Amino acid sequence: MNKNNKNNPLLLLINPKIKYNLNKFNFLPPVALGIIADLTPKNWTTLIIDENINPVDELNLQADLVGITTNTLNISRAYEISKKYSDIGIKVILGGSHASAFPDEAQKYATSVVCGEVETIWKNIINDFENDSLKNLYHSNDFQYTEINMQLFDNKYIIDAFETSRGCINNCAFCGVHVPKTRPYTRKPIGMIINELKNSKNQYFSFIDNNFYGNDDEYLISLFESMLKHNIKKYWQTGVSVNFFKNKELVKLSAKAGAKMLFVGFESDTELSLKELSKKNYIDSSNIFQEYKEIVKSCHKNNIIITGNYMIGLDSDNEQRINERTMFFKELKLDQCACVIVTPLPKTKLFNKYKSENRLLYTNFPEDWKKYCYSNSIVKHDTLSNEKIEQLYYEKNKLFQISGLKIFKTIFVTKSIGGFIYFYYFCKNFGKYQNSFIERLLKIFKK
Ligand code: SF4
Repeated sequence: MNKNNKNNPLLLLINPKIKYNLNKFNFLPPVALGIIADLTPKNWTTLIIDENINPVDELNLQADLVGITTNTLNISRAYEISKKYSDIGIKVILGGSHASAFPDEAQKYATSVVCGEVETIWKNIINDFENDSLKNLYHSNDFQYTEINMQLFDNKYIIDAFETSRGCINNCAFCGVHVPKTRPYTRKPIGMIINELKNSKNQYFSFIDNNFYGNDDEYLISLFESMLKHNIKKYWQTGVSVNFFKNKELVKLSAKAGAKMLFVGFESDTELSLKELSKKNYIDSSNIFQEYKEIVKSCHKNNIIITGNYMIGLDSDNEQRINERTMFFKELKLDQCACVIVTPLPKTKLFNKYKSENRLLYTNFPEDWKKYCYSNSIVKHDTLSNEKIEQLYYEKNKLFQISGLKIFKTIFVTKSIGGFIYFYYFCKNFGKYQNSFIERLLKIFKK
């Protein structure tokens, strides 16, 4: 595609491919780019390119302006694309969590960098571009929700994505939600979400919040009741913290409103190790296993699939502790479980700690950001070698691989083949063959 004329400029919005993504298939629409497309003046032509579907190189696109969303997993590719366009004189704007955390680094690869949420300043940025006065750096201190229009994604995705909140009330040591700075936890107006859901043609969606629960029973009860009142008959999944399950009526109501799968970042199995991660992830620390077991039961009772993960490579770990933790999660009988290696995302508490202790093994940035992907051991450990941690990571994940029996059990739990197939699609342990098979089935169920 060629550049458009001055009255009808062309904006390319790019979601760079994640080379090391956990889910193998990154199939959720890049919501942030949809919001930007919607905020762009109507005399512009806007094209959203998700490299997980169409690599930019294959499309050989030109443009008047390029916007790229970044995170630590896609940052190497984001810089490659940015350089490609900058080298031929096209202006590039980088935004997203990684560029926000490292504006000095990102500025080396782009015309402008946006720190923070772009919604309230995007129109000014476009204005500056039109007046040939783009600044190197934009800071957004303000934020307001806008309605997400899934039609902008041309029905390319099997699953739609919506949000009910931004930010988080917690501050886990490894999590980048508060980088670059602490933002208050806010909730989206429920009326806006209902409009989005009504306008969505898809049968399946995901609430992509960082913290869907937010210790806010009242808000969620209103949301679920509104979904029921407006006859939103869709299947959905989201991630919740363990406190969500304290209110059994809330779990039941979520199921009525279409919840088919809940993900819980359990992270660990003892009070000590959870404290190491600053994770407020247990209800009654005297018997964490029993508490978690109740959560699994509560989901299954309501025909909801429950998935989760745990970490290895904590400072307090040795091989025996990792084996015990793996058995703990095996015995919980989650529908799907994965093990990840502790990964200190940039500028988090954990990152700063390891950096000050001189324990980060890969610091040749930006090249080394690709190592920060949950499957590499990147921190010096007192008692375990990095090779050993990686070996344990592969060994433990093998124990959670999908089996015929597991499939049968999950169909039995959810009492819905469509819901089961859709939500198992999320799970990384499917091989390539299984994924294409499931994709075909999903298309049938979608109709
Ligand atoms: S891991 Fe989850 S609960 Fe913890 S700070 Fe991040 S978003 Fe919040």
